[in-house]
Amino acid sequence: MSENLIPIIGEILNNYDRELYEEAWKNFNGKIFDCERLNELKNFAGRGIVKIGLCNNEKCVEEVEKCGSVLGVNENNKNERKKCIVCGKKATEVVFGKTY
Ligand SMILES: [Zn+2]
Repeated sequence: MSENLIPIIGEILNNYDRELYEEAWKNFNGKIFDCERLNELKNFAGRGIVKIGLCNNEKCVEEVEKCGSVLGVNENNKNERKKCIVCGKKATEVVFGKTY
């Protein structure tokens, strides 16, 4: 694990579940991916931390959680236009990772 990446992730995750976060860190290989397609999410999850757009529709959340867990919301990027990875609607950027 690359130590100097920790503060970066800490900045991204202003609001996260500590346990999930630490669990994901164990599998974090120092890589952060940007993913815009649901069918690619499975490949990225487990290889690092993935940034995705996600709206607040429960069905969309359920769909992405088949591949892993939402670790937190990128509050710094709230105003950035991001599309939901599932439905394509206006979304918030979230940080996603695979937990075991
Ligand atoms: Zn959606």
